[in-house]
Amino acid sequence: MGMKFHLSATIKLSKPASKEVISKEIENFNAQLTEKQVDARIEKWDVLENNLNIEIVSGTKRRAHDILLNFRNILSKNLGKKYKIGVRKIDVNFYEVTFSLEKEPLQPVTIPFADLEIDGKNVRMILKDTSEEFLRKNYVDRMIKRVIEKVENQYYEGKKEFWKLIWKSEEKEPVWNKDPTEEMLKRGWLVQGPTKGKWFYRPQAAAIFRAMERIAIEEILKPLGFQEVIESHIVPFEIWLRTGHLEGMPGEIYYVCEPKTRDVKEWERFIDLVKITREVPEEELKKTVSVPRAGICYAQCPVIYWSLRGRTIADESLPLLIFDRTAISGRYESGGRHGIERVDEFHRIEPVYIGKPEQLIELRKKLIERYKHVFNDIFEIEWRMAWVTPWYLQQAGKTDVGEHYGEGVIGTIDFEAWLPYRGDRKNSKWLEFQNLSILGDKYVKAFNIKAQKGELWSGCTGIGLERWMAVFLAQKGLDPENWPEGFRKYLDKLPEGIKIL
Ligand code: ATP
Ligand code: ZN
Ligand code: MG
Repeated sequence: MGMKFHLSATIKLSKPASKEVISKEIENFNAQLTEKQVDARIEKWDVLENNLNIEIVSGTKRRAHDILLNFRNILSKNLGKKYKIGVRKIDVNFYEVTFSLEKEPLQPVTIPFADLEIDGKNVRMILKDTSEEFLRKNYVDRMIKRVIEKVENQYYEGKKEFWKLIWKSEEKEPVWNKDPTEEMLKRGWLVQGPTKGKWFYRPQAAAIFRAMERIAIEEILKPLGFQEVIESHIVPFEIWLRTGHLEGMPGEIYYVCEPKTRDVKEWERFIDLVKITREVPEEELKKTVSVPRAGICYAQCPVIYWSLRGRTIADESLPLLIFDRTAISGRYESGGRHGIERVDEFHRIEPVYIGKPEQLIELRKKLIERYKHVFNDIFEIEWRMAWVTPWYLQQAGKTDVGEHYGEGVIGTIDFEAWLPYRGDRKNSKWLEFQNLSILGDKYVKAFNIKAQKGELWSGCTGIGLERWMAVFLAQKGLDPENWPEGFRKYLDKLPEGIKIL
């Protein structure tokens, strides 16, 4: 893809320099670029008093701004040594990047820090912010990438997610076709939570929920040798900057603010207002809390990776098999909320595995075996597995590492179950109740986690306990009499609950 960078700048010198001197410098500089086969050069220049105006044109190998900063350094060294002339500062007067797209945009595209002029597949990006600091940070490259990505997304939007069936269970006759959430509400096992998408589980519902957790631990995690860790469920933005969650789903995050201070003096007016008005003084609160720098856990794996950042894992610990069941996930589901299965606050067990590619491929087989055992022999539900490609792999543009490990190695398997209350098994939408991913080196790279030698991969499998409960109850009902033997080993009788008048 052709890419051209065109930059015009003024370099301010501490005192005037002669044309001869400057001419020599530029000649030498250009000669060096040619020698190094860099497709860039200073095309035009002139000196007016203390001002040296130059125009740089470059191709894809190096960026014009990079050439400019490089030239400035060389110039400063040479002029300083020979003529005691200093280089004061550089002002970029104009910086334009032209490049071409693979497809024409379907809708207008905008980008921060620049004006875009798009004609067919040709893009002119004229930078508005051209401060030295801006250029030094190499934002330009990311801006180009982002423009290309935004156009690609326009084509991708509305397209269905990739989905390929890989296995399905036998058909199972459900004992009923009611929505378990509705029924639990009627029976008083469950109460709508105090804020959106939250629930209060009374003893009966809590007992079922905890049975799910015990099954996951006893039947899957213990037999496979997973070790428990306990993590915080407040995640600082630094972590999500590394994993991509902050740009991936900023609209789903529950943001966390800290107080600016715990000094009572600073809170005095706030307290006064609360005492007098019996309302929350929101304007005053804005002054006493900081802007969020963290959010509530979205998935547990990022913090697990973070805890190992920059570390080398000993061979004897590989594959590393750990899980967290402490952090609670918060997601702003908005219009999608429904029942206990799509909530804003949920409880997952997240097993994470880090190891050699072959170890993880082997582990996935074992995990699937254990999962089949739970869903076939303990829950006895109707379910299926499908190969799907999650957004973060799609965005990274790599769907597999086919060359080495074959198709269908890196990626995600969704586990889905029929919810009879949504309609018949053929035409209704099944519920994803958990997933299982091998993510290659994406996260170990992002957190610089290493093996003693060779490649290291990682992956995770999010066990959604509310979802386990939702699919089990949707097919098996609320009456323990109707529950399969295997499940009754974990929960045979429900607690009495609370009699409410
Ligand atoms: P969905 O497509 O249903 O929104 P997702 O792709 O966002 O799911 P993941 O990020 O892959 O889900 O999370 C893994 C698991 O976490 C899911 O399989 C599910 O068990 C659970 N989960 C995700 N979102 C919710 C939610 N809002 N309520 C309850 N459980 C959830
Ligand atoms: Zn994960
Ligand atoms: Mg989701």
